Amino acid sequence: MQEYDLVVVGSGPAGRRGAIQAAKLGRKVLVIEQGKRVGGVSVHTGTIPSKTLRETALNLSGWRERGFYGRAYRVKQEISADDLRRRLLITLDHEVEVLEHQFARNRVQHMRGKAKFVTPETMEITRDDGETVHVQAKSIMLAVGTKPYRPESIPFDGVSVLDSDELLDIKDLPRSMAVIGAGVIGIEYATIFSALDTQVTVIDPKPTILDFIDREIVEEFIHDLRDRNMKLILGQKADKVEKLENGKCEITLDNGRHVTCDMVLYAAGRVGATDSLNLAAAGLTADSRGRLSVNPETFQTDVPHIYAAGDVVGFPSLASTSMEQGRIAARVAVGAIAKEPPKYFPYGIYAVPEISTCGLTEEEVKERGIPYECGMARFRETSRGHIMGLNSGLLKMIFSLKTRRLLGVHIVGEGATELVHIGQAVLNLKGTVEYFVENTFNYPTLAEAYKIAGLDAWNRMGDLSQAK
Ligand SMILES: Cc1cc2nc3c(=O)[nH]c(=O)nc-3n(C[C@H](O)[C@H](O)[C@H](O)COP(=O)(O)OP(=O)(O)OC[C@H]3O[C@@H](n4cnc5c(N)ncnc54)[C@H](O)[C@@H]3O)c2cc1C
Repeated sequence: MQEYDLVVVGSGPAGRRGAIQAAKLGRKVLVIEQGKRVGGVSVHTGTIPSKTLRETALNLSGWRERGFYGRAYRVKQEISADDLRRRLLITLDHEVEVLEHQFARNRVQHMRGKAKFVTPETMEITRDDGETVHVQAKSIMLAVGTKPYRPESIPFDGVSVLDSDELLDIKDLPRSMAVIGAGVIGIEYATIFSALDTQVTVIDPKPTILDFIDREIVEEFIHDLRDRNMKLILGQKADKVEKLENGKCEITLDNGRHVTCDMVLYAAGRVGATDSLNLAAAGLTADSRGRLSVNPETFQTDVPHIYAAGDVVGFPSLASTSMEQGRIAARVAVGAIAKEPPKYFPYGIYAVPEISTCGLTEEEVKERGIPYECGMARFRETSRGHIMGLNSGLLKMIFSLKTRRLLGVHIVGEGATELVHIGQAVLNLKGTVEYFVENTFNYPTLAEAYKIAGLDAWNRMGDLSQAK
């Protein structure tokens, strides 16, 4: 039986980063992946495909130019599902190639097959042809991620009633679509299809959406969605989903109302992919959503030599944070120092328009009783915004009145997921409002919105140098 210093189950962001980290520290590492190719949900059904789809939809629809040329403007008149898929396949090939090269360069071995525990130190890998292999490990990292939650009551058929994995294989673009679940994934796909002129209805039992985002940003976002005729049915549960004889789908809401559409995307959550791991053999149990609990500093499970990282441990369930978790877990596993990452990490929602945020929301600042001031800038106040024909886009910063430090940055609009990193750096380096007021920003840029928002807050906070 082969023996390894670290066996990693899953080749998504957490697994691959952890594996490469341990290999760079000179350890013998094996990655086990059941999928046809390495990369995990992130590369094959999650982050990269959805972002590629978004980019393709925005380019082919001419979305970014509509501020100038009107809502009817399109770069390509007839956009097909094939148009969307073509770019996807090229992007995914590149991603896999880079990953395989990284594994090869760092001498990380990888094996295709489904892994499960036999003992806490031994894993059995079942290959496609049914053959099994056993491996022994000093440490094991479970980076198995999640899969879509698929309740029995939903008549999934992969054609008109789908989960977010299946959505990538659709043959035709629907004229109308209902999205059940207004979480990040549901909202991202709802707005991408709306940008392709599909009539979209979003249904969620909660009366509000994206509760972890600053309310003012969410209000701005919802205004944008309603302005382009997207329907949001909030505070109402989808009780039943049926396929009608005419090929349409019908959703019955708990108030008796019906929604009829061509396609239903069921995006009401994901569950940890732990069901086939035979956790009991390792002395582990998962929660009701298949997730594993870990020490948040070391990513050790209750069994000290078994680590878990990435989406399988729950919030924040991002590719970006999963990579960091994997790296830290691997360092702890091989006995290397694992420095804690900076306090604030960015959250990116690649909807149309994008939302990105880092640090405290205004609601959190209020809750903590911190005296504060906000600074706002609309993208249409920047020259770059005029050049780009932007009608929407808002950047909001929150500063402490006591320390003048930046507490949070919240952005909705074009480029939000890139722009947020300026705020993130200032936050983690404990910068104050003066940073934005005193520094020169490239002109014309959307980043200039930082200066405008900084000045907006500074005007109300008073000039500290004059006060002395
Ligand atoms: C539609 C969608 C959009 C997203 N968009 C973003 C985004 O824009 N930005 C962002 O940061 N995050 C995004 N995410 C989240 C991101 O994809 C995840 O946070 C990330 O993929 C989690 O990485 P992971 O390492 O935990 O595992 P995953 O990427 O989930 O990979 C786990 C791997 O483990 C394998 N595996 C599972 N069980 C076994 C087993 N028993 N044996 C062998 N292999 C096994 C699976 O086949 C899979 O390949 C998105 C997710 C989805 C679904």
